[in-house]
Amino acid sequence: MLFDQWLRGRLYQTKRAGLYRTMRTMHTAPGSSVIINGQQKLVFSSNDYAGLANHKKLIDASKEVLNECGCGSSGSRLITGNTAWHERLEDKLAAFKKTEAALLFSSGYLANIGVLSSIPEKGDVLLSDALNHASIIDGCRLSSAETVIYNHIDMDDLEEKLKETQSYRRRFIVTDGVFSMDGTIAPLDQMMKLAKRYQAFVIVDDAHATGVLGENGRGTSEYFHVVPDVMMGTLSKALGSEGGFVAGSQELIEFLLNHARTFIFQTALPPANCAASVAAIDLIETQTERRKKLLSHVKEIKSCLSHMGYTVIGDHTPIIPVIIGDAQDAVVFADELMEKGIYAPAIRPPTVAPKESRIRLTVTANHHWSDIHYLIDCFRRIGKELNVIS
Ligand code: PMP
Repeated sequence: MLFDQWLRGRLYQTKRAGLYRTMRTMHTAPGSSVIINGQQKLVFSSNDYAGLANHKKLIDASKEVLNECGCGSSGSRLITGNTAWHERLEDKLAAFKKTEAALLFSSGYLANIGVLSSIPEKGDVLLSDALNHASIIDGCRLSSAETVIYNHIDMDDLEEKLKETQSYRRRFIVTDGVFSMDGTIAPLDQMMKLAKRYQAFVIVDDAHATGVLGENGRGTSEYFHVVPDVMMGTLSKALGSEGGFVAGSQELIEFLLNHARTFIFQTALPPANCAASVAAIDLIETQTERRKKLLSHVKEIKSCLSHMGYTVIGDHTPIIPVIIGDAQDAVVFADELMEKGIYAPAIRPPTVAPKESRIRLTVTANHHWSDIHYLIDCFRRIGKELNVIS
């Protein structure tokens, strides 16, 4: 009773701060349109960039292994959970990322925490981008190394901080490859040069870039033709299922297998899940038109909304933030979109800076051109009604 009262009090504070969260229930499989609260909505907020989450090949591969191996993996990889499917997927990921080896984690979140809590030691420093994902922030908090934040993708500031941290034993630059709220791409080419000049290591979180960026969808390393020391990725966005991974040298993978607590102490992914991801990588490698279609959707939306007078930020990625400004205006805008059958959330402080509230659109290869044009038309009509554009 006392316990619940205390929690109720804390929830009241959360509500008063405007930070109270609720969930929407999807009543259909993931796709470009879903049923929410009994109504069909076009989804412009999914991470299923390549449109594979509901692909027949992933489902069939998964079903087959589900029948063969059952639902769960029964233990951690180091005890009873390791199967040929885990190893097959790791080989596939290493080949896809063009690295010596790869290691699976149960999620991208846990992959970041595993890397950051195990590799940097006391006396080391982590240089972390101001807009890095929560899983990197939490990984830094769990690390024995200190953390220094540099301004978002500001290479001058990073260099300044590299100069200021020369007394530390080792320096690690840690960055998202594509930033989840701003859609910006980390300038990995410049970062690698700085790392070389100041003898630092680079850890990149390619959750939003894997299957999306680079000539073959291998991510930011391929996009910039560089090889960071640690490449983390997720299976839950463009690869359509669930799980995380780290790709890199044999030594890196062997080290994580022995020291990353989120690897050692977690139950392995279900084998059927691994089979789905093997099928997803096959599709990413063979169906290059998916990525081309996805990126042409991005181009169309960005250029049309910019021409209309919207402030559209970010680089050429499937994350398209449209700045509205005031938090309440952004909520009204998102409600109007919902009214017109489009689900795209308003993102407000503290997730983003004050006066930078936005509609965060994400686009997938599964959207039809008619969906894209309907979205653009809705932005035209709502923007004029609400005086966001003239
Ligand atoms: N890194 C980034 C940049 C992300 O956006 C996310 C997911 N939102 C993660 C890591 C975590 O990945 P997962 O969902 O596989 O845990």
